[in-house]
Amino acid sequence: MTEHLNHFIEGASFEASDGRRINLVNPVTEQVYGSSAQGTTEDVDRAVAAAHRQLEGGAWSQLDGAQRGQLLSKLADLVERDTELLADMDANAIGRSPIEPRRMDLPNAIANLRAAAGWANQLEGRTIPTGGYFGTKTLSYTVREPVGVVGAIVPWNSPLMITVWKLAALLAAGCTVVIKPSEETPQSALHLAVLAQEAGFPDGVINVVTGYGNEVGRALCEHPLVAKISFTGSPEAGREIQRTAGVLFKRVALELGGKSPQIVFDNASFEDALRGCALGLFANQGQVCAAGSRILVHRSIADRFGAALADAAQAVNVGDPRQPGVQMGPVAKKAQFDRVNRYIQLGIDQGASLLAGGVSTPERGWFVRPTIFTNANNAMAIAQDEIFGPVGTLITFDSEEEAIALANDSSYGLAATVWTTDLVRAHRVAAAVKAGAVGINCWSPLDANLPWGGVKTSGIGREGGFAGAVAYTEEKVITVLLPS
Ligand code: NAD
Repeated sequence: MTEHLNHFIEGASFEASDGRRINLVNPVTEQVYGSSAQGTTEDVDRAVAAAHRQLEGGAWSQLDGAQRGQLLSKLADLVERDTELLADMDANAIGRSPIEPRRMDLPNAIANLRAAAGWANQLEGRTIPTGGYFGTKTLSYTVREPVGVVGAIVPWNSPLMITVWKLAALLAAGCTVVIKPSEETPQSALHLAVLAQEAGFPDGVINVVTGYGNEVGRALCEHPLVAKISFTGSPEAGREIQRTAGVLFKRVALELGGKSPQIVFDNASFEDALRGCALGLFANQGQVCAAGSRILVHRSIADRFGAALADAAQAVNVGDPRQPGVQMGPVAKKAQFDRVNRYIQLGIDQGASLLAGGVSTPERGWFVRPTIFTNANNAMAIAQDEIFGPVGTLITFDSEEEAIALANDSSYGLAATVWTTDLVRAHRVAAAVKAGAVGINCWSPLDANLPWGGVKTSGIGREGGFAGAVAYTEEKVITVLLPS
């Protein structure tokens, strides 16, 4: 079946204003299976205007927090009802096994919507004691107001889950939104908008404009009526967005990439660490922002651990993820396939040794063999750059201090994992590692109530948890003079 996807603006479907379209390509077969509207500045303008109307006297602006919460709750139920469909949409678009989004992305998205339903009427202000106004007493209090229209720009690796992280929090805060999904994965965002309409959200609160980053994404960043850009994606695009939005004083949240260390101490549970490292390397073909792609291992266990990890890599069944028994599909797109192979070749050229995998040359489909490097050092490109594929780099250390120094010797700081049975050491290392999230004996736990985000090149701001909803508000202070 050929998919023909359009924008969703103010509750209706629209072609691009100039009729252009973007082909959707199946990463398993490399065949075109449909197309989506290639959004224009005019399309963005139409969507932003609709979102703005809802804030300026529209039906949405009349709802209180409890009513917004009820709508979010209903949306959560509808997403739960359509779990399989949404998981299939995301999985098919990037060649991922649908089992992963069914088990991980969808439950997380539903939990986020339910949590946000509770946050919607808890965004309280404060009463603040003051020194009065030129000798007269005053009462000062604050209220939390929605920041305004949000431009939500989303990547392709976990499209629905990341869209919902933004959507749930901004709706709880009373904002409206124009979502720009990745050009590879517009399906689930469009379906989510239709579900929101079914739940009873007024038309215009949630709009989706499909298209390219340098057209739709840029138009959102430059639009005078967009108050905040919430972006998840690469540092390169994040930098450009920050620059554009900065000139216009827009609020910006940036969830960017990572090169997250998994630190394996000699007293770690070997099997647990092995399973966790394999998961952190190979889940979603390694196309995970928190992928634990730098494996820092204590020298005394490095050979045994490397060999076991290589066995795990070789045991991964790579193929069409729709076939039974297949654990890993292709990477999402040709550019990603080329990038991953380029880095594998660079690793070899810079002197690292392959324990498993290598450059892939499949006949058809963008399949990459799970790859493990050893004899690497932290200065190599395969240790410093985010590859975003199933490639792990093993680096050895001799002491806790060295492990921490290696972990922090990175421009990124998104996540880290510490594997050890010595809990005092675990907490000491967790405190010393510069990252937005540290897992102790577990790789990348996600929860609707936990904040998520990075330091350094991994981004600015946090999503998730109650503070994630607060981030979509402005605190306004009101002072009244109280003459006696
Ligand atoms: P990308 O930056 O190429 O694209 C992300 C989104 O931004 C897409 O919708 C794209 O069309 C749009 N875009 C691109 N250039 C833009 C511009 N100049 N202005 C406005 N919008 C623009 O990233 P990607 O390849 O889709 O995703 C992979 C990256 O996302 C990786 O670096 C990964 O680590 C990161 N990521 C981070 C998190 C996190 O939570 N920190 C989660 C998932 C992915």
